[in-house]
Amino acid sequence: MRPAFGTLTGKAIPDEIRSKTERRLAAELTKVEEKFKRRLVRLLGHPPDEGNVPIEFWGDYARETNRVLTTELQDTMLGEMERYVDLSPVAPDWDDLVGDANRWSMDHTTRISQGIADNSNRIVGDIVRDARESGQSQAELAKRLSWRFGRAHAEMVAITETTRADAEAATALQNRLGEMGVRTRRRWLTGEDERVCPICFPFDHATAEIGQPFTATNGQQAMNPPLHPRGRCQVVIEEIPPEEVPTGAPPEALQ
Ligand SMILES: [Zn+2]
Repeated sequence: MRPAFGTLTGKAIPDEIRSKTERRLAAELTKVEEKFKRRLVRLLGHPPDEGNVPIEFWGDYARETNRVLTTELQDTMLGEMERYVDLSPVAPDWDDLVGDANRWSMDHTTRISQGIADNSNRIVGDIVRDARESGQSQAELAKRLSWRFGRAHAEMVAITETTRADAEAATALQNRLGEMGVRTRRRWLTGEDERVCPICFPFDHATAEIGQPFTATNGQQAMNPPLHPRGRCQVVIEEIPPEEVPTGAPPEALQ
């Protein structure tokens, strides 16, 4: 039997769950970053020379980052899906959702890890050149590398990617429910710390149907948050009341 409208209303992720997820991912990423920073300082030598760093170093760094992101983001997505399934009387097949989470996290994390490694490689080039020209000690160089390889960077990645994984979990649920004939919309909720953000605030409470982008009050469109690093907006899904006409549908769609 079809559940009544309202029973499928998504709720924002409680702050304590959200912070715990971010902290766990940040801690795992910090371990990887610190290990690679130590290895990098050793490889660069003194005076530092980027030519001493083999290309495999960046491949290894991307691979380890990817391993952490894949495991943790899959876990985040499944946690969010489970929370949703618990709240809702109508739920897609659990195995389908597990498949969606696996596929998305593997595709996405490979790309993001490679991007992180490429950016770090470029930034390290600048730091090393500067260290050589200004005659920095090895300790000074290590300190400067910590800005890129360490807790601050790990935390930024953890917050941003947790936001992305949560929004993707909602999107996967919306798609699966759509296959079951349940019409839903995604709703964009700005986080406590995003209420004053000029980029995110215009999206607060915007809604989107399957495959559609959100449209902000300023006319901007986006498929999902995050819109910027450290973005903490959320996406929840809600059932569309049966009497509501689909956006842009001809009148005959009413029946
Ligand atoms: Zn924002």
